[in-house]
Order: sequence, then C-alpha cells, then structure tokens
Amino acid sequence: MNGEERIRNLHQVREAIAKAAEEAGRDPGDVGLTAVSKMFTAEDIRPLLEAGHRQFGENRVQESAGKWPALREEFGGLELRLIGPLQSNKAADAVALFDVIETVDRPKIAKVLASEMEKQERSLPVFVQVNTGEEPQKAGVAPSEAVSFVKHCRDELGLEVVGLMAIPPAGAVPAPHFALLRRLAERSNLARVSMGMSGDYEAAVSLGSTEVRVGSGIFGPRPSP
Ligand SMILES: *Cc1c(COP(=O)(O)O)cnc(C)c1O
Repeated sequence: MNGEERIRNLHQVREAIAKAAEEAGRDPGDVGLTAVSKMFTAEDIRPLLEAGHRQFGENRVQESAGKWPALREEFGGLELRLIGPLQSNKAADAVALFDVIETVDRPKIAKVLASEMEKQERSLPVFVQVNTGEEPQKAGVAPSEAVSFVKHCRDELGLEVVGLMAIPPAGAVPAPHFALLRRLAERSNLARVSMGMSGDYEAAVSLGSTEVRVGSGIFGPRPSP
C-alpha cells in the first residue's frame, strides 16, 4: 500500500467516524483519531503527516524511539500516544518520548510513571487501561477495581487521568465491552474513553468513544516482526 492509498484510507475513516457520531447524535469533533503506526517505518508514516494528521499511536517504546524523534523535528504539533504495555524500566523513556500514555494498567507502573513525570517535570495525560473481558493474559485493571484505581492514581499519585482505555477480547462482540468501559468512566467522573479499532470503531463511536485507535484500516496489513 502506498502513501496515497493510506491518505485515502485516513479520509474514509474520518468520514465513517463522522457518520457514526452524527447517527448517535454526537458531535463528530468530539471523536479523536489515533493512527496506529506500529511496525510501519517513518517513510510509511510521513505521507500522513504531510496530509496534516498529527495523532499517532505506538505500542513499543523502543520502536518509537527509533523513528519518532526525527519526525517530531520535522513536523510540529505531534501527539504521540503509547497504546501498548509499559515495563517499569522503560518508563523514563516513555515519559520523554510520548505525549499521552493510554496504558496505565497496574499500581506499580502508575507509581513509576508519577515519579518519572515529576523528575522530568513533564506531566502527561494518561488513560487507565481496563481489562473488560477479565482475560488472564491481557493487561488492565479488573472492571471491579477500575474506579478505585483511578482514584488512587489521581489522589495519591497526582497523575492526570483523563480517561479509560480497553481492548475487548478478540472474537467477542465488542459492544458490551464498550458499554462497560463507558459506564466505568462515568462512575470515575472521566469524560474520555479510548475504544474502537479498525474492525469496530464505528460501533465504539456509537457507544460513546472519544478516541478510536485505527491501524490496519489506515496503513493496511502490518508487516510481520
Ligand atoms: C495495534 C493496536 C490497535 C490497532 O489495531 P487495528 O486492528 O490494526 O486497527 C489499536 N489498539 C491497540 C492497543 C493496538 O495494539
């Protein structure tokens, strides 16, 4: 897939988001689009930057460190989001490199992030990841712990929690997971929910998503590692 096709995909995804928002009686301007560029090169990403897109997601710190600093020098106004699991020993790099961290998923990483942000004097908005399907192998706090974990992150650690994030179980009907995440966000007094990927972002927008994360729907199939 070439740059032109990817720009066309980007516009199509934006239009589909707007349509889903309008049908749900929502303002399309309330739904952000994170273009998920993991596994793609700076050369793959550049056409989208040139077309004006600025919000991107990556799931690995090291991979991002290899390609984004140079792009950031070239293009202003970038919003780079970490959407993959974070290890404590990468927290310092993550705080330096990203603008938003969507995957605060356990007390230890919350604590390390808070202390890194203080050290670097760089306070990033974060999302708390919720394991809505309670899958043993998946990151995220259990739904029953989400409200108290958000409170802990905010009140005790001083993190700027802006929303909740979830990845529904593969193969499951996603709507109940989206609805659950939305409900937990409301109970936590959080206005934002990051939910919806290439296969289900329209459903997510119908159920209140404020930021969708679309990878293959824009870039095409990911190259294997
Ligand atoms: C890879 C990834 C996406 C994008 O997935 P697509 O199905 O390609 O849109 C979204 N969210 C997270 C957390 C991811 O890791």
